[in-house]
Amino acid sequence: MRMTAFEDVSLRALMLLSSTGNTEPLATRAIADGVGTPYNHVSKAVLRLRELGLVESTRGRAGGVQLSDAGRRATVGQVLRALDTREDLTECESANGDCPLNLQCGLRSALREAREAFYRALDHVIISSLPHRRQMEPVLLQLGLRPPGSAV
Ligand code: SF4
Repeated sequence: MRMTAFEDVSLRALMLLSSTGNTEPLATRAIADGVGTPYNHVSKAVLRLRELGLVESTRGRAGGVQLSDAGRRATVGQVLRALDTREDLTECESANGDCPLNLQCGLRSALREAREAFYRALDHVIISSLPHRRQMEPVLLQLGLRPPGSAV
């Protein structure tokens, strides 16, 4: 199943925030640079993650975005489910007209079940457990951040 670009950037942002040790807030600009995605896309993703209670943001010079307690515990399945606003994976109903096979379509219900199975398989994958040092160290250094646990 293909994720939307919005879901992908949201997961990237959560992984990056997890990898900092969550000791200080990250500016949205820094998150955008870190995940290699335009600022306005990341800004919308951060807004949605904040609405979901997964990140907290503070204003001011030292302000920025940090994971909330819920964000530290969040799983991939939980986040994808919350971000997926599509009723169906296919265009069963659309502004251009409904699919003519829409009446009690077996494919439609099979695809819904498959999507839920996909999310269930990711319900035990905690996002903050995913980033690892070799993966994140170059990104954090590029942002001018010291990877957690590194020597002063
Ligand atoms: S065939 Fe079924 S699943 Fe496919 S678009 Fe039509 S109603 Fe939806």
